[in-house]
Amino acid sequence: MVILLNVIMIMLAFIVGMCAFSFANVVIFRVPNEVSLKTHMYCESCSENLKFYETIPVFSYIFLKGRCKRCGASIRVREFVNELIGGFLSVFILLRFGVNPVLTDTFRMNEILDISLGQFNFSLATVVKLLGIITILAYVVMLDIITLVDNDTMIIYDGFNIVVFVISIISIFTMPGMGIVERIIGIFVVSVPMYIIQLVIPNAFGGGDIKYLAASGLLLGWKLELVGVLIGILLGGFYGMYLMAAKNYDRKTHFAFGPFLCIGVLTAMFIGQDIIELYSQYIAWMKSDY
Ligand SMILES: [Zn+2]
Repeated sequence: MVILLNVIMIMLAFIVGMCAFSFANVVIFRVPNEVSLKTHMYCESCSENLKFYETIPVFSYIFLKGRCKRCGASIRVREFVNELIGGFLSVFILLRFGVNPVLTDTFRMNEILDISLGQFNFSLATVVKLLGIITILAYVVMLDIITLVDNDTMIIYDGFNIVVFVISIISIFTMPGMGIVERIIGIFVVSVPMYIIQLVIPNAFGGGDIKYLAASGLLLGWKLELVGVLIGILLGGFYGMYLMAAKNYDRKTHFAFGPFLCIGVLTAMFIGQDIIELYSQYIAWMKSDY
C-alpha cells in the first residue's frame, strides 16, 4: 500500500513537473517576443490556434512527430527536452525533500511528507510540508525561465525577479526550517559585494544578476546562496576558458552569466548542505592537525 502510494506520488510529480515546465516554455518564448501570456496556444509559423491534444506536454511532441499538423513547421526540440527535464526535476524534488526522510536535510525540513511513511494524516503540518515542496518547484520553474531567457536575450527581466522575490517571501511560511536571520543575510551576502564591484567595474555583471541573487538569497539563506554562486562562478569560468580555447573570445566578449548562476543555485539546493558539512569536516580536520 505504501509502495503504491509512493508510485502514485512520483507519477503525479512527473506530470506536474512536465506541465509546469510546459508553462515555462510559453513564458520563455512570449515575454521576450512581447506576446501576452493570456493568448491561446498557437503555432508560431501558421498562427493557427492549437487543439487541446496538441498542447499536452512531451506527448504531443511525440504524437505530432515534432511538426505542426497544419503547416508542417517543426516544433522546437528544446521545448520538448525542457518539459522532460521538468518532469525529472519535479520527481527529484519530491525524492530529495519529500519521500525519503533521510535525504531531506538541505532545508532542514525533515519528513516533509508523512504520506510516504504510511501515515496519511492531513494535519496542518503535512499541508505546510506539501506547500514547501510546491514552493521549491515554483522556484525551480523560475530558475528554468531565467536560465533560458537570459541565454536567449542576455536579459533577466525585472518581472521574473519580482516573482522570485514573492516566492521567497512565501517560502518564509512554507519552509519554516530556514531561520529568518539566515534568510535576510542571504539577501545581501552576494548582491552587495557584486553591486560594489559593479560600481568600480561597470558592466562586470548585469543588474538583473544582482537583483536575482538578492531575491534568491531570501529563499536560500546565506550559506546555500554562497555555495550556489561559487558553483556558478566555477561553471561560468570553465565556459569562459572553453570559449578562449575555441578562440571565439576576446576580452570584450560577454556571455550570459545567469544560466550558470541558476545551475549553481539549483545544485546548491539539492546538495549544498552536504557540501557545507563536508567543508566544515575538512576545516575541523585541518585544525586538529596543528
Ligand atoms: Zn503551423
